[in-house]
Amino acid sequence: MSRLFILLALVGVALWWLFGRRREPIEPPAAKPAKPTAAQPMLACAHCGVHVPRDDALCDSAGRAFCSEAHRLAGPR
Ligand SMILES: [Zn+2]
Repeated sequence: MSRLFILLALVGVALWWLFGRRREPIEPPAAKPAKPTAAQPMLACAHCGVHVPRDDALCDSAGRAFCSEAHRLAGPR
């Protein structure tokens, strides 16, 4: 009798495992369209040459990109 109970428990866990796993792959395709928009051009800092994402770069009045406020104030090198 205890063997039957263990077998039913194992079948239940196996079913939960199978159907729980099947739902997971549905989410990544929905998240994938966000990746191309996350890709953005890298700009080289005019002071030190470090590449920073365009959204993180600081630009001076001449349109040059800088990695940080300190390098923007220091100016191009
Ligand atoms: Zn820099």
